[in-house]
Amino acid sequence: MACSFALLTGCGGEQANVTEMNKFDYTVEQFADLQILRYKVPGFEDLTLKQKELVYYLTQAALQGRDILFDQNGKYNLRICRMLEAVYTNYQGDKASSDFKNMEVYLKRVWFSNGIHHHYGTEKFVPGFSSEFLKKAVLDIDASLLPLAPGQTAEQLCDELFPVIFDPAIMPKRVNQADGEDLILTSASNYYDGVTQREAEDFYGAMKDPKDETPVSYGLNSRLVKENGQLKEKVWKVDGLYTQAIEKIVYWLKKAETVAENDKQKAVIAQLIKFYETGDLKDFDEYAILWVQDLDSRIDFVNGFTETYGDPLGLKASWESLVNFKDLEATRRTETISRNAQWFEDHSPVDKAFKKEQVKGVSAKVITAAILAGDLYPSTAIGINLPNANWIRAQHGSKSVTIGNITDAYNKAAHGNGFNEEFAYSEAEVQSIDKYGDLTDELHTDLHECLGHGSGKLLPGVDPDALKAYGSTIEEARADLFGLYYVADPKLVELGLVPDAEAYKAEYYKYLMNGLMTQLVRIEPGNNIEEAHMRNRQLIARWVFEKGAADKAVEMVKKEGKTYVVINDYQKVRELFGELLAEIQRVKSTGDYEGARALVENYAVKVDPALHAEVLERYKKLNLAPYKGFVNPKYELVTDEKGNIQDVTVSYDEGYAEQMLRYSRDYSSLPSVN
Ligand code: ZN
Repeated sequence: MACSFALLTGCGGEQANVTEMNKFDYTVEQFADLQILRYKVPGFEDLTLKQKELVYYLTQAALQGRDILFDQNGKYNLRICRMLEAVYTNYQGDKASSDFKNMEVYLKRVWFSNGIHHHYGTEKFVPGFSSEFLKKAVLDIDASLLPLAPGQTAEQLCDELFPVIFDPAIMPKRVNQADGEDLILTSASNYYDGVTQREAEDFYGAMKDPKDETPVSYGLNSRLVKENGQLKEKVWKVDGLYTQAIEKIVYWLKKAETVAENDKQKAVIAQLIKFYETGDLKDFDEYAILWVQDLDSRIDFVNGFTETYGDPLGLKASWESLVNFKDLEATRRTETISRNAQWFEDHSPVDKAFKKEQVKGVSAKVITAAILAGDLYPSTAIGINLPNANWIRAQHGSKSVTIGNITDAYNKAAHGNGFNEEFAYSEAEVQSIDKYGDLTDELHTDLHECLGHGSGKLLPGVDPDALKAYGSTIEEARADLFGLYYVADPKLVELGLVPDAEAYKAEYYKYLMNGLMTQLVRIEPGNNIEEAHMRNRQLIARWVFEKGAADKAVEMVKKEGKTYVVINDYQKVRELFGELLAEIQRVKSTGDYEGARALVENYAVKVDPALHAEVLERYKKLNLAPYKGFVNPKYELVTDEKGNIQDVTVSYDEGYAEQMLRYSRDYSSLPSVN
């Protein structure tokens, strides 16, 4: 089935696919350590009008929460952002000056992080412009454009905010995890006010009942403050803290409720509205249970206080939203693999004694994101597993999804970035990777996740922890090898999962190039490899390289002073993957600790310092940004003269600053001081 490739890349017919792919630009811009990308929403046009309407209302509900996250990330964030936006859009001076340019980069970073701290490292940004420059710029513009507190002058605003921006000693980290310090007092996030770590821990410790088997997520949706010496939760809800934004979220959720796909989904939305109105965490748990049980709807969403990484105590949740719909074609792919799980198990090169008689594949749902918001914007996860409450997961299950169109955008954007051109041996490898690489990568991941981890069995009496510290590297190698062995199998062509018998070569080349060389870009000079996935990849690549050396199946050659991987015999490489899979499965099934140790220590850990230095040097010259994020598509209602909705359109031409300024204008409802 030739179209599986086209379908997986998210486009329609093959011809349309090629032209469309060329037209669509996945990259937007690059600054500081960030690259901004754009993603497509394939399949949106094919939704019914009612489904499109539902997506539209949910995206509106998603965008209305933006201010909440800014304020959660730090109490001055909204005002600093608004002040800088006012300067940025009204500045009358020289916009080519380095001060202005650096302020622009700073503002773009603030948008990206939803605050003044790095989204990943959480350290405060260092401005590349002077306070004198900013002060003059602020005082030069019309004061009514500034986020002034009642009675405040522009001068006083500068006095209040400038130390927060310019003094490195003030609020240096958003989330401090340094052992031995008061993590709340030293963290800039705005989840506690005037409260010590000890007080917060005692406050929530007292709420917990060890006998309660269905505990709510204490503290999840509030700021803990001290008022007149008393600790008190300011709950984020309608008529509570953040009510201005939450009322708007609820407004759009109520619209969404009217076009729900079915009663189950309607009940999910209604219960979420109830939770926003009551702020009662029991209502939240009921919502989470309804949500996890809604499996039949095409459209799905996350909207609310969800992940707790931003709170050093891990209690309070940042606001986020994701609206998505099931990617039917890609989900069919994981279902096809899953359905044939027994065939794959039976035909693997592993000793019969270590095979499962009855194997069950897992099929993960692949979704298409329609909008990213709150703590998922612009930087996003590519897989999500919710809800977080352990007892709900145990009693009612969880939903695990991968976001197909986001992964696709990462892949597509990487195509022109020069990485493969620098490291692949010749034009032939680059072309093969361009043509098949994304597809075979996804397939390898699917085979790894849906089959690899679930294959094989331990012999009776073998301790599952027998391999100790080598266990996870061996386990990842086992799953990877299962995928590598089968990605080259004619069965995949037969099942329509790959377009032809050549496709797998892209995956083999990428895998060996990565395992032998390019993954070293993530290792500091002088260090060994520690992380289990990286160890497993080097283990496989080095083992196959060594065993294939006699036949020259795989070589490392020098060309103009640079090292390259060359694969001369792909079928031999497949045989070697099969041999290693059989050996690794034997090690696992028999609990052979010494065997595991020998494989890992001999192949997986040590780094060739000369090759490492060369790889780092070549990588540095490519000037690639380590962090990436996305602009969203823009949705618009099409109505007739009577105001009836005729269609919802999606467009992709908005720039980064343009989108951020539009969001600040149209979706900003919180006062500057909360
Ligand atoms: Zn794995």
